[in-house]
Amino acid sequence: MKIYNTLTKSKEEFEPVNPPQVTFYMCGPTVYDLFHIGNGRSFVMSDMFRKYLIYKGYNVKFVMNLTDIDDKIIKRSNEINTDAKEFAEKIIKEFFTDIERLKVKKADVYPKATEHINEIIDLIKILQEKDYAYEVDGDVFYNVSKFIGYGKLSGKKIDDLESGARIEINEIKKNPLDFALWKNAKEGEPFWDSPWGKGRPGWHIECSAMSMKHLGETIDIHAGGNDLIFPHHENEIAQSEGANGKQFVRYWMHFGFLNIKDEKMSKSLGNFFTAREVTKKHSPESIRMLFAQTHYRGPLNFSEDLLDSAAKGLEKLNNFYELLISAIEKSDETPKPEVDIEEFRKKFEDALDDDFNTPQGVAIIFDFIKEINKILAENTPINRNFLLDVKSFVDSTAEILGILKTSEDAGSKGIEDQLINLLINLRTKAKADKNFSLADEIRDEMIKLGITLRDSKEGTTYKLN
Ligand code: AMP
Ligand code: ZN
Repeated sequence: MKIYNTLTKSKEEFEPVNPPQVTFYMCGPTVYDLFHIGNGRSFVMSDMFRKYLIYKGYNVKFVMNLTDIDDKIIKRSNEINTDAKEFAEKIIKEFFTDIERLKVKKADVYPKATEHINEIIDLIKILQEKDYAYEVDGDVFYNVSKFIGYGKLSGKKIDDLESGARIEINEIKKNPLDFALWKNAKEGEPFWDSPWGKGRPGWHIECSAMSMKHLGETIDIHAGGNDLIFPHHENEIAQSEGANGKQFVRYWMHFGFLNIKDEKMSKSLGNFFTAREVTKKHSPESIRMLFAQTHYRGPLNFSEDLLDSAAKGLEKLNNFYELLISAIEKSDETPKPEVDIEEFRKKFEDALDDDFNTPQGVAIIFDFIKEINKILAENTPINRNFLLDVKSFVDSTAEILGILKTSEDAGSKGIEDQLINLLINLRTKAKADKNFSLADEIRDEMIKLGITLRDSKEGTTYKLN
């Protein structure tokens, strides 16, 4: 399998340090608000890649950090007079809700910055001992000019960066590019005790400390959106390699932006849709189908129309799957049709082995469906083992991409829907019995659970918030 490595700017054969073990670190969210569907694209693409590695027989340890202390979290929590930790915990819960709605498999570990303060402090101490870091009045900075390879990931040169950064006025830093490892606590901010006084960690050091703790000094894959290449990942390299004197990451994987009209979807530009609102209108399968149809490194313009056409494509897959299930029920021991399923599987794997070319992979699944549909259309009993092999091909490939509604998804949604309707019926009955206080109580409790009811002449419908 080949993947494109941002560090070497080339497609490389994938060789983990300790096969079949693969250590995979993905930069997770800063938990100050619901994440947008642009972040969602990066989360989903890392999920697909992880699932492909599992499909290929690797034993993947997948870690995604949660940045639960930062300026934005402090600002937001102050605005609503809540403790920063409590506020971050609330957003983390929302994060998990949305991750599940996008059918993203949970990480093996979700380390939180605030739970790794000791590891972070220890790492900064090592950097200070090795003269990569210096303290100025309670702040600790990384001295980029000390790290010889600085710029190797982003291809940026310190001299060019310095001239570009001249406008930044920060008297206390030796070099404008130096970045904070530890920040002296300001009035009203959360803090931890440290050898440099009360303060909190910088963002970049969190990922170096947490990846080292959970995955070791050299990790196989480190991923994130393109926006993280510089400075975040460049700084992670400087910190981890500075401290350990070892290669930090073997393969750097970066995801292209989800754009709106060719501009990066972002909170600061205001051109975003939250994953929450998008998953209310569109199925996770169609969102994932849209993402899978674009190469992970390329940009993708987001639009409702594209999501609708992804959903249309999926209809073909779902109709096919229904036909397949009923054909299995009617199958017998007649000779196998002459379709080489293994040939399709090989083509699918070749596509994904070539720098995870999911658009090509999707095309192969659809070519396959077209071929099998011809056989199903004959409407005569088909060889059972052949059909089971067809099903196993579709199940396993669609499972990686997450584009097939599984019976498990349908089942869990079904029971949820049935329970809600049961409550609606009980409320209607309570109203008919003039037990209005019970009817109101049912409605209010449902609202608390995020279920809004709408009464009309035709009856009561519900909406999930
Ligand atoms: P953040 O919470 O901003 O640190 O972002 C979480 C993840 O989403 C990171 O891996 C970012 O690189 C990624 N990301 C942010 N914006 C976009 C976007 N518009 N398209 C794709 N990925 C993004
Ligand atoms: Zn990170």
